[in-house]
Amino acid sequence: MAKLDILVFAAHPDDAELGCGGMIISMLEQGYKVGIIDLTEGEMGSRGTVESRYKEADLASQIMGLTYRSNLKISDSIIENNRTNQVKIIEEIRKTTPDLCFIGAPNDRHPDHRKATRLCADAIFYSGLSKIETKDSDDKPQNPWRPHHVFHYMQDRPIEYHFIYDISDVWNTKKKAMAAFSTQFNVIENDHEPKTYISDPSFFEQLEARARYLGHLGGCTYGEAFAYHNLPAGIKSFDSFLQHKQKR
Ligand SMILES: [Zn+2]
Repeated sequence: MAKLDILVFAAHPDDAELGCGGMIISMLEQGYKVGIIDLTEGEMGSRGTVESRYKEADLASQIMGLTYRSNLKISDSIIENNRTNQVKIIEEIRKTTPDLCFIGAPNDRHPDHRKATRLCADAIFYSGLSKIETKDSDDKPQNPWRPHHVFHYMQDRPIEYHFIYDISDVWNTKKKAMAAFSTQFNVIENDHEPKTYISDPSFFEQLEARARYLGHLGGCTYGEAFAYHNLPAGIKSFDSFLQHKQKR
C-alpha cells in the first residue's frame, strides 16, 4: 500500500462526498493521494441496500479519481468507541500513513456522525502509541503512526469553522460524485422506498445553496467549511499564509 497524503473518515458511505468531496477532488487534481474510510455499510439507511451503496460508493470514487477506499463494516447505528473499533481504524492509519486526516463534525443532527467523530479522533491519537500492537494483512507488525494534522468537515448542522476551502473549480465534479448515491439523494420518480430527509430534491438544492453561501464567506463561488481538531502549534514559518492571497 502506497502512502496517502490525506485520509478521510466517514460514518456512512456518502458522508465524505457531502462534507468534503470538493476538497478531496481538488487535492486529487493537484496530484495528492487521497483515501476514504467508510466506517459502516450504511445498512440502517431507510433507502437502498448494502449492495447498492457499495456500487454507489464505487461510482463516486471513480468520478473523484480517489486513490483508495475501504469499508470497516462497523455496525451502522451502533458505532461504539471501543478498542475493537479503534483497532480497525488504527490498522488503516498505520497502513496508509496519511499526513492529514479529516473526520466528521464534532456534533451533528445524526447521532452516528458525532459518535464516529469521537471514535476516529480517539483512534487517530492511539495510532501513535507503540504499545497498541497491530498487524498488517501479511501478519507483520505495523509501526505506530499519528497524522500531523486533523480537521473536522461540516455535516448537516453548521460548525464553528476555521477556514473555507475554495471548491469553485470542482463544484460540478462534486455534484456528480454526490449524485452517484442515487438511492439516497435527488430522488425524483416515485419509487416504493420511503421518502427521507435527504431524498427530496430540495435537499440537493439546499446543499448547493450552502456551498454558495460558504463560498461567499470565503471570497469564492463555492466553498466547504473546516475546523482544526487541534489548532496548529509550534510553527516556524508563515509560508502557507504568505502563499495565500486572502480576498477581502
Ligand atoms: Zn451520514
